[in-house]
This record gives sequence, structure tokens and C-alpha cells, in this order.
Amino acid sequence: MRSLTALPKVHVHAHLDGSYPREAVLALARRRGVPLDLPVRGGPAATGEGWSDVWAFFEAYGRVPALVADLHDLAGLCRALVAQEAAEGVVYLEPAIEPQLYAPRLGSLREVTRVVVDALGEAGREHSVEVGSILTLNTDQDEPIAAELAAVAAEFAGRGVTAFGTAGFEEPSGLQRFTGAAATARAAGLPVVAHAGQTGGWECVAEAIDVLGATRISHGVRSVENPAFVRRLADEGVVLDVAPVSNVALGIVPTLAAHPAPVLHAAGVGVTLNADDQLWFGRGVSDQYAVAREVWKLSDTELAALAGHGLRIEGMSPATRHRLGAGLLDWLERSPAGVPT
Ligand SMILES: [Zn+2]
Repeated sequence: MRSLTALPKVHVHAHLDGSYPREAVLALARRRGVPLDLPVRGGPAATGEGWSDVWAFFEAYGRVPALVADLHDLAGLCRALVAQEAAEGVVYLEPAIEPQLYAPRLGSLREVTRVVVDALGEAGREHSVEVGSILTLNTDQDEPIAAELAAVAAEFAGRGVTAFGTAGFEEPSGLQRFTGAAATARAAGLPVVAHAGQTGGWECVAEAIDVLGATRISHGVRSVENPAFVRRLADEGVVLDVAPVSNVALGIVPTLAAHPAPVLHAAGVGVTLNADDQLWFGRGVSDQYAVAREVWKLSDTELAALAGHGLRIEGMSPATRHRLGAGLLDWLERSPAGVPT
């Protein structure tokens, strides 16, 4: 079988603070003298046993940013993340970053953002991974911080920030409040990437598209409940950045076999596969492709087509787009043993 880590891919739905490498976080916890339990890769989280209580998940999630004592720690974790993703065969990484988890404790929003995008960019050059970032607002926050985050996103557009995002587990979330922030980001040339259609139905995805001008949706899996809306997503080229293992681990979808990603892909919707929060769900981005192969029974040609949806990500440079496209052809042209045919 062709190696799934060798498959060139994007990883564009990965929350920075839930995606740092396990060893780097454990090392930081030891330095701080804080006991911390983290799932091991391949552990039971993906069965849905890990996080039946989503609030327990959020409580655990917050423990990692709390370990970060200064901007030096933060930069180190960002660099470790890029190294981890390079080893997964990622050619374009676009984590969701929330500087507000660290500001004002470690510095201003602007200063925290600068440290994060600089560390990601430097590590990206070192590991041959192009790295952007989705500067992300949590929809349980209010308009003033939304406006401030959008202004920082606009300032760093083209200098490490490649999209403006919204995240939030509770839907609907009254996205109307954030139209001004989204407009600021769009005026700076940033696409809007909204979390929707995870706990909320297709109407929430429609709201993100119609109210915020979102062109990509993080999750969006519940769109499948309305076939007419799925056709709209396909016709308008809206990309869904789905996270199959996360959806099962948080009880959004009952089993990996029941995940709607293959149905959405077959309907012509651009679907990328992502880990969401690898640190907590114990599965990386390549593991999502293993699900596609082993559970959904997709052929290698179909796996390459799925990875090829990554070519639609707006923030990617032409050089990386070429690298991804050519790399996918090369992957398919090799025999399963890895030698050229
Ligand atoms: Zn997410």
C-alpha cells in the first residue's frame, strides 16, 4: 500500500493549542511541575469513549495554554508543531490561532500574533512546509474583541495570516454580530473560514456563508442533511474542512463508518481531511486518510482526489499549489511499494 504520510496534503483545520506535539506539551508541563494526562496517539479517543462530555473536553483543552508562561514557550510550541506536520507529509499548514488565549497575559494581541506567525513561518522555511494561519475569533466573545482581532488579522494579511476564522461549539451563534469584523478581514483580502454545521444544522452553514461571506467551513458535516444545500456548496465551490475522528470523539457522528465526508465528496463538494485537535483526539492528519482508506474503502486514486481538494485553499502560494498538484501525481505514479512504475 502507498504510504499515507508520503501523500502530500494540506492541514487546514487544526487549532494551534490543541495540536502541539504531545511530547513538547508534556515537557513543558514537567518544567512547570504541573501533572498532565494526554491521550496517546492511537488511543481510545477516536472511539468516542474519550470525550462523551464535551465540557470536560473544553476544560482539558484550556490546560495547555495555561502552561505557556512566556512568548519564548509559545514560539517553541509553534516550531514543534510545524516539525510534527512536516513528518506527516503536510505541504501547507494553516492552523487556527487564537492570540486572545495568551493576550494580555503574555503581551498584546498584536505582539502574541507576531510571535506566533514568525515562529510558524521560520519553522516552515526550515521544514519545507508553507505555513499560513487563520486568526480565529471565538463566537462566545463579544464585538469589541472581534473588531480588534479583525484589525490584527488585516495588519498581518500577507505576513503570516492567511484567513479570518470563527470558532464556537454552540450554534446558532448570532453571527450577525460579527459582520463588521468579517468585512474588515475580507477588505484586507482574507477569506473567512467559519466553524458551522458541527452541532448546528445546514442552516448554520448557510448563515456563515450568507452573513459572514465564509468561503470555507470548518466541519460543515451536517450540511448532508439537506441535499439541495449540498448542491449549493458544490456549485459555489465552498470547501468543508472536516475532521472525522474529532466528530466521533465528540459525539457529533456516531461512528467513523457513518461519517458523511465520502458522501459530500461524491456529491462534488470540496472536502479536506483534518485532525482538529490532534493532542486530545490522538489522531494526526495522516490518520484521517487511514480512515478514508480502511473504513470508507476509498481507493488510492480517490485518496489523491480528496487530498487534491487542498488545491482550493486560497492562502496557498502558487509554488506550493504546484508542489501539491505535482506531488499527488507523483504519489499515484509510484507503485504501492514506493518505486516509480
Ligand atoms: Zn475546529
